[in-house]
Amino acid sequence: MNNRTNANPHITIIVPAFNEAAAIAHTVNHIAQHLKALSRDWDILVIDDGSRDNTSDVVRNLDKDLNTSLVRFSRNFGKEYAITAGLEHAEGDLVICMDADGQHSAELLGEMLAKWREGYDMVYAVRQDRNVESAFKRFGSRLFYRAMSLGGQINIPRDAGDFRLMDRQVVNALLSLPERNRFMKGIYAWVGYKSIGIPYFPLDRTHGESTFSKLKLAQLAWTGVTSFSVMPLRLASGVGAGLAFLSFIYGVWVVIDKMFFSESIPGWPTVVASMMFFAGVQLLFIGILGEYLARVYDEVKGRPSYIVAEVSKPASKSPSQSKSTKPKAVKPAEKDLLG
Ligand code: UDP
Ligand code: MG
Repeated sequence: MNNRTNANPHITIIVPAFNEAAAIAHTVNHIAQHLKALSRDWDILVIDDGSRDNTSDVVRNLDKDLNTSLVRFSRNFGKEYAITAGLEHAEGDLVICMDADGQHSAELLGEMLAKWREGYDMVYAVRQDRNVESAFKRFGSRLFYRAMSLGGQINIPRDAGDFRLMDRQVVNALLSLPERNRFMKGIYAWVGYKSIGIPYFPLDRTHGESTFSKLKLAQLAWTGVTSFSVMPLRLASGVGAGLAFLSFIYGVWVVIDKMFFSESIPGWPTVVASMMFFAGVQLLFIGILGEYLARVYDEVKGRPSYIVAEVSKPASKSPSQSKSTKPKAVKPAEKDLLG
């Protein structure tokens, strides 16, 4: 028994949405139906990540008893930032992140809440259907988790995405990280806390198609690796040291060969081939260095991670434009850090 068993926590569901006008009303309704059964105190917060359709209009016009607020970005900043904004604006004691396209089944909310009552601070949904994905996605994700586990100090649970419940403590901890390259999978794992996964089968998208192309996924994975691991840099040092050692041995052999065994040293092809090889290796590793430098550059610029153009509460209050001139960044000082 703990003090969560009979608690009635305020639950906030954050829903990042990008061009989801066709799906969002249905998704919010569905979530609300389940929330009503779980808690007296709940609200939904949709973050319109710069949609080009009328997602925001749909959300503003939702029924008042759906308790749904809207945070609208000034442009598309990406899901990771939409989630960050959601965490920042969420008022609940518990925050749950769910996709706008209806792929995250609200049926799981009860189970998540039950785990929280058992004492877990973070409950993440683990997707079960990797085998129906393309070979590319499966290979990519295996490579990614392998790279992360080799070089990072954190352990990222496999196949766990953004669909998760977080206790207020966890939310505050997440917001205390000031970094601009927000790779959420890594950040969730980095903050720690008592966590548990529960299995789920993602549903089909109610409308449209996934916005995450192969290229976008690969970019996200690379952001993850470079934000949370120095493995590529170590690899560069390792390969450099190995090659230098082999070249030294070869150099010694060339001298011995010239002195004792042969008159002339043949070798134009060898020279050209090895020059090309080493030039390639050098460029590759300079590129990797550059990637890290680019991360540093991003952080040093100190720009806000996203800009909020509008915050609007459920129908009772009129939309406030107050935030439009004041960009909102991840400001840890505002929150009680690592509560
Ligand atoms: N999304 C977002 N910003 C983006 C891309 C996507 O907020 O730039 C939202 C999208 O509306 C959806 C969720 O992130 O609610 C997951 O996106 P999607 O369904 O395209 O990806 P997948 O289901 O393949 O992970
Ligand atoms: Mg989806």
